[in-house]
Amino acid sequence: EPVTPTLLYLDNVTVSFDGFKALNALSLALDHTEMRAIIGPNGAGKTTMMDVITGKTRPNQGTVLFEGKHDLTSLDEAEIAELGIGRKFQTPTVFDMHSIEDNLLLALKGERGPFSALLSRHTNQESERIDALLERVRLTAHRQRRAGELSHGQKQWLEIGMLLAQEPKLLLVDEPAAGMTDQETADTADLLRDIAKTRSVVVVEHDMTFVRELDVKVTCLHEGSVLAEGPLDAVSANERVIEVYLGR
Ligand code: ADP
Repeated sequence: EPVTPTLLYLDNVTVSFDGFKALNALSLALDHTEMRAIIGPNGAGKTTMMDVITGKTRPNQGTVLFEGKHDLTSLDEAEIAELGIGRKFQTPTVFDMHSIEDNLLLALKGERGPFSALLSRHTNQESERIDALLERVRLTAHRQRRAGELSHGQKQWLEIGMLLAQEPKLLLVDEPAAGMTDQETADTADLLRDIAKTRSVVVVEHDMTFVRELDVKVTCLHEGSVLAEGPLDAVSANERVIEVYLGR
């Protein structure tokens, strides 16, 4: 299968709520194995953009093309997830009473049901994948512990591991470092950079210290469109960006 130049292409996307444009002719292109940070003041349209990509919200206008061929605007949420788009919300949805490795096993088996997956023995291949996921999300030493005993930051990583179990081509994450310690924040930046070696990642983030640590191209949204795009230093020095952040 040929690799297309852009993994995700939003073209002229508009979302109206009772005439109010949460997204206003938004265009954005994301490459394969690119990590992009999305910033912008409250109400800029960041969440709505993620909702459009995942099929939660249908745009009134525009196209969202994945891998150059799938028009996401004609697919439902399950079909979009199936194509390889995973989304991590701020609140982790791990199974607190189960061990870290069982949480990952459940994610691998794609079960959200009554834990029947845990009753069947896992295969060697599944064990190897769990080992690799544990390494990746820095939880190898904690594999037998219950998820409920993890720190806030570790829980976030476990959930990222559970999403990675589904081998997404694109991972959408909403403020992954919120509520984390400085060390956890730095580790999360490392973790996401590591993931972006083989997948694409979109990070919605308010914390500019964290965005700086990510060290990736930044898109600043405002009133549903792109206000500025580029390296963080250039975007944060942009006069229009300064104006909207200072609320002038
Ligand atoms: P951000 O995530 O950047 O803070 P949002 O995408 O959540 O911005 O919201 C963009 C704008 O759209 C906001 O003004 C918000 O009030 C409005 N909005 C979002 N969702 C809805 C909805 N379901 N109904 C009406 N207005 C909405």
